[in-house]
Amino acid sequence: FCSSTTPITATLFPGDGIGPEIAESVKKVFTTAGVPIEWEEHYVGTEIDPRTQSFLTWESLESVRRNKVGLKGPMATPIGKGHRSLNLTLRKELNLYANVRPCYSLPGYKTRYDDVDLITIRENTEGEYSGLEHQVVRGVVESLKIITRQASLRVAEYAFLYAKTHGRERVSAIHKANIMQKTDGLFLKCCREVAEKYPEITYEEVVIDNCCMMLVKNPALFDVLVMPNLYGDIISDLCAGLVGGLGLTPSCNIGEDGVALAEAVHGSAPDIAGKNLANPTALLLSGVMMLRHLKFNEQAEQIHSAIINTIAEGKYRTADLGGSSTTTEFTKAICDHL
Ligand code: ATP
Ligand code: MG
Repeated sequence: FCSSTTPITATLFPGDGIGPEIAESVKKVFTTAGVPIEWEEHYVGTEIDPRTQSFLTWESLESVRRNKVGLKGPMATPIGKGHRSLNLTLRKELNLYANVRPCYSLPGYKTRYDDVDLITIRENTEGEYSGLEHQVVRGVVESLKIITRQASLRVAEYAFLYAKTHGRERVSAIHKANIMQKTDGLFLKCCREVAEKYPEITYEEVVIDNCCMMLVKNPALFDVLVMPNLYGDIISDLCAGLVGGLGLTPSCNIGEDGVALAEAVHGSAPDIAGKNLANPTALLLSGVMMLRHLKFNEQAEQIHSAIINTIAEGKYRTADLGGSSTTTEFTKAICDHL
């Protein structure tokens, strides 16, 4: 526990592409709001660190392990053989088993729906993303989908606990167990087991294809959704689309030993990198999630309102939201609101 005045050290990975520009925006806004955080900045290395077999340095991983909290910009993995993807390295090394992605309509930014308020919780360590692919014979390849009881229980526990502590009423497990009987079947079995311990939370199971249709027709049907890795990747982008796109949606990775690493859902956006065009909202709102995790609730609310009000006012918006402001102009407008 920390009071709102004790300074905290947090790791910051500005990342690649638009990462440094939007990380700069977060630093400005946090300083303006008087958030008592000292950033420990770490950059992706230019060569492979043999201790991590990746471009991520051992020191940067140690920094997150030590601080237990961090904010991460998008990272683009350099193409080539003999090293692990940056995001995969982070997930594996820091045991980031759940990815929490809140998705809600921003008041003042009109989209097809104005009542979206859902949370997707994605299993982050296995499924189709286990990295186990090989060629069986020429022209035939195989990819292994791994589902374990341990990882499924762990993410289900997190989803129900999240629902309970955040006043949510329902958890929907998203699956395709009618076809993937063994793998998704096990995932569902684990969700059911956990659901029994939370009689106050309604539990339901929804097949992924039906879930997509329901989300597009009426997203208000959902509350908290928990799902295996691949489905989570796809559904959370779909949800981002419901409220205005990737420039707006934050996320937080939850690890064992209480590690929390917040990051925007979007990638490094190489098409607009270095042009002062990126929307920093997704990373800013990820920073707000980080602040709530640290119980800096007052500053979290202040920053959150400043962002919402700036977007609602409509004077300063980045191009992805139909405006013509630069990243720095939009950031300044948020600071002025603060
Ligand atoms: P990755 O493989 O890293 O996920 P991607 O190919 O999925 O990358 P993103 O970087 O996520 O691509 O971007 C997808 C599209 O959304 C691009 O056109 C990009 O410009 C746009 N985009 C993403 N993030 C932002 C942002 N913060 N502000 C404005 N546009 C963005
Ligand atoms: Mg992407």
